[in-house]
Amino acid sequence: MWSLSAWRRRRLLAKHPVADETWQRVRHHLTFLDGISAEQDQWLREASVLFLTEKHLTALPGVELHQEQRLLLAAQAQLPLMNLGELEWYQGFHEIILYPDDFRSPQRHRDASGVEHEWDGEHSGEAWQQGPVILAWPGVLASGNWEGYNLVIHELAHKLDMLNGDANGLPPLHHGMPVQQWASVMQSAYDDLNHQLDHNPDAETAIDPYAAENPAEFFAVTSEYFFSAPDLLADSYPQVYAQLSQFYRQDPLARLKHLQASDPRYQTEG
Ligand code: ZN
Repeated sequence: MWSLSAWRRRRLLAKHPVADETWQRVRHHLTFLDGISAEQDQWLREASVLFLTEKHLTALPGVELHQEQRLLLAAQAQLPLMNLGELEWYQGFHEIILYPDDFRSPQRHRDASGVEHEWDGEHSGEAWQQGPVILAWPGVLASGNWEGYNLVIHELAHKLDMLNGDANGLPPLHHGMPVQQWASVMQSAYDDLNHQLDHNPDAETAIDPYAAENPAEFFAVTSEYFFSAPDLLADSYPQVYAQLSQFYRQDPLARLKHLQASDPRYQTEG
């Protein structure tokens, strides 16, 4: 979307105004944005509006989307792109489908275009190569805090990963980021996690054991932690944090530490 001409961009923003109160409610819900600068806030607000003009949100029955809900999703989707520049990082898909529940039981729904959607107890989100992103709305609502869970970032990290082929845990790295270094850092952390789980499948791992499924899930889960529990990730796998910090060109840990130093509400228990 950042390849749009400035004129077209201004026109789209003018056509889809966001009231200050609406944006404030979005910001209030998304506590993991706390501490961003006024300039970043402005970028995120505009990028969210433009994202919503680019992607079609399909809400299945049971999901009600007003502007505030749409922005809630869009702002979480845009946070990872904040410092990535004008490349179209979310190219190759146009639709985000929102399911009404977190898939506790088998579900089936045929939408207006005749496409059958089925989902079961396994997943709260999916990202298809060259296809839509699917999110369970309760998972979207449960995301956006500092608790180490972010469904939106998880599924969109898969999309970033897929930009250069299959989802394999290797997104297109920036100039100056050696693939070899990325691969060895990610592999050794992935091996460490798997080793712990091989030893004891019920081990209390520092990060969600789902990351041990395969390298693609490792990248998606650690991306979630990077933005929503950077302290946990940096404590357990500091080199992974450093690689992700180079990739996303952000330092959420510094932002969180700053918040924690000034406000006890941000201090995590245990
Ligand atoms: Zn995943």
